[in-house]
Amino acid sequence: MAKHPTTKQKLSRSRVRSRYTTFATNARRKLTDSAPIVTCTQCKQPKVNHRICPTCGYYRGKKVINKASPLDKVTKIKA
Ligand SMILES: [Zn+2]
Repeated sequence: MAKHPTTKQKLSRSRVRSRYTTFATNARRKLTDSAPIVTCTQCKQPKVNHRICPTCGYYRGKKVINKASPLDKVTKIKA
């Protein structure tokens, strides 16, 4: 006899997929409602509104991140 709760019947594939689809839909809706996707004015790529564009590094027409040169490697930690 099993001491932990066990399922009495196998869930059909349709029922399992339906449950996970609902979960995915809700998660996607939550993400899109909180952060609307807009097109970047600089490079016309999709980006999250009120965030720096990950493609070109521009925000409100100003260059914030230099995407051409990658960040300098941290070699020494200053105390
Ligand atoms: Zn951009």
